[in-house]
Amino acid sequence: MLKMSIMEDAMAATSQPVSRGPVPGGLAPQSLPLPEIFARVSRHVPAIEWPALAPDIEAILRLKRERNAVILAHNYQAPEIFHTVADIVGDSLALAREAVSVDADVIVLAGVHFMAETAKLLNPAKTVLIPDMGAGCSLADSITAEDVRGLRARYPGVPIVTYVNTSAAVKAESDLCCTSGNAVEVVRSLNAPRVLMIPDEFLAQNVQAEVPEVEILTWAGHCEVHERFTPADIRDVRESYPGVTVIAHPECPPDVVAESDFSGSTAMMMNFVIEKRPAQVVLVTECSMADNIAAQNPDIEFIKPCNMCPHMKRMSLKNIRRALETMTHEVTVDPALAERARAAVERMLAVRAR
Ligand code: SF4
Repeated sequence: MLKMSIMEDAMAATSQPVSRGPVPGGLAPQSLPLPEIFARVSRHVPAIEWPALAPDIEAILRLKRERNAVILAHNYQAPEIFHTVADIVGDSLALAREAVSVDADVIVLAGVHFMAETAKLLNPAKTVLIPDMGAGCSLADSITAEDVRGLRARYPGVPIVTYVNTSAAVKAESDLCCTSGNAVEVVRSLNAPRVLMIPDEFLAQNVQAEVPEVEILTWAGHCEVHERFTPADIRDVRESYPGVTVIAHPECPPDVVAESDFSGSTAMMMNFVIEKRPAQVVLVTECSMADNIAAQNPDIEFIKPCNMCPHMKRMSLKNIRRALETMTHEVTVDPALAERARAAVERMLAVRAR
C-alpha cells in the first residue's frame, strides 16, 4: 500500500484536537448574515467573526454570477473559502480533471501558482486568475526546465514522470505528469525498467516501495510542509492517543509513511476517513485538510500534529473578491510551451482513464 504524507508551514506540531465550536457570545446563528452558509463552517469560524467575513462572501457570490466565473479550491484551503465560495474542491488531480470541462468564462484558482498554470493549460481559451501571484511551492521551485534537459541528456531513453507540482516549463520537458493520487499507476503504465520521477524525492521513494520491479531515479526536491514531519511525531501522538488512526501524505519522508496506518493523496485521505469513520484520526498533512473534513463530520475527532502551507494560506476571501473585481492576476502560459506541457498532463489523464 502506498503511504503518502504532506507538510505544512510554521505551526509547531502540537497534540490538540483541531476542531472547535463557535465561541459563546450570545449570537444565535439565525441572527447572523448568510445563516445557511455559516452553518457549514460554524465548527471553525466563531460566530463573532462571521459578520466580518459575510460581506466578502456575499460579494464573491455576486461577482461569480456577473463574471460567469467558478472558483477551484484545493483541499488545503481554509474552511471559510472551501465551504463557502468554492465551486469545485479537491486535490491536484481532481482540480486538473475538473478544469478540463469547467463551463465558465473565468476560473479563479484558490491554490498555488502551478495549479493555476495547469488550469490554464487545460483551458487555453478561458481567463484564469490567481488572487496572489506569490503563492508558490517549494517543490515547483526546486527544479527548472534546464535541470530536466540535463537529466534527459544524462539518462537517455529513461522516461521522465513529473509531479504536477511543477511549472509549465518543467512539465513541457517531461514525458508525462503524475499526482500523488496516481503516481503508482503512471509508473506502472510505462512498462519501463527505469523511470525518472521528479522533483519530489520522498514521493518517488514512497512509490518505489510500491513498485519494486522498476528502478526509480529522482531529484532532491521536497515539500517544505511535509518534510518537517518525523517518525517521533507519529510515535508521540500514538502514545497520547492510543488507538488513533494515522494517515500520512506521500510527500512525507518514507520513515514517516512507514509509521502510518494508511497513505494517500488528499482525496484518498478524505475518502478513507469518510468511509472508515475512525473515532480519532491524525492527518499528517496540511492543517486545513482536517478542518475541512471535520466541518461535515462532527463525530470524528481530528488530532494534531499538522503543518500549514504558507503558500496556500496566501489565499483569503478578501483577495479572491479583489481578483474578481479587478480581474487580476491573470495567469498566462506561452502557447508553444503550453502545447508541450498540456501533452504531458493529457498523457497522465489518459493513464487514469484506462
Ligand atoms: S503543501 Fe505547499 S509547499 Fe507543499 S507541495 Fe503543497 S503547495 Fe507546495
